[in-house]
Amino acid sequence: MKYQFLVDEAFKAMENAYAPYSNYHVGACVLTKDGTKFIGANIENASFGATNCGERSAIFAAYSHGYRQGDIEAIAIVTDGKILAGPCGICRQVLSELLNDETRILLSNGQEFADKTIDDLLPMRFTKEDVL
Ligand SMILES: [Zn+2]
Repeated sequence: MKYQFLVDEAFKAMENAYAPYSNYHVGACVLTKDGTKFIGANIENASFGATNCGERSAIFAAYSHGYRQGDIEAIAIVTDGKILAGPCGICRQVLSELLNDETRILLSNGQEFADKTIDDLLPMRFTKEDVL
C-alpha cells in the first residue's frame, strides 16, 4: 500500500497521545506534496472541552508551518480502538476546510484500513463558499 509509511508514522505519533481520561489513543500524520510530515496526537484535558484531537493537532501543525490546502497530499489517522473509527464531527468540519477534495484520508486501527476523501466523510458539508 502506497501510504503504509504514513500510517506507520501515525502509529508512532499515537504513542505520544495524552489520554488519561478516555484511554483512547489517536495518532495522525500529514504528508505534504514536498514530502514533509507533521504528526499529531490527541491531547486531553480535565475540562474535556479543551481536548484536541490527533488529526486536528497534525493539520494545525502543518498550517502553522505555512502549508495550505493545496500543499497536502494525505493524512493518516489511526487509533488503538477495537473497531475502525472515523474522525469526530468537529474534525470532519475542520478537515473539510483545510484539505482538498482529493486529499487522501487514511484510517486504521492496526487491523482494518480505509482510504477516504472528505466527500466520503462529510457529504453536503458547510463550506466557506456558504458564508462568502
Ligand atoms: Zn476529532
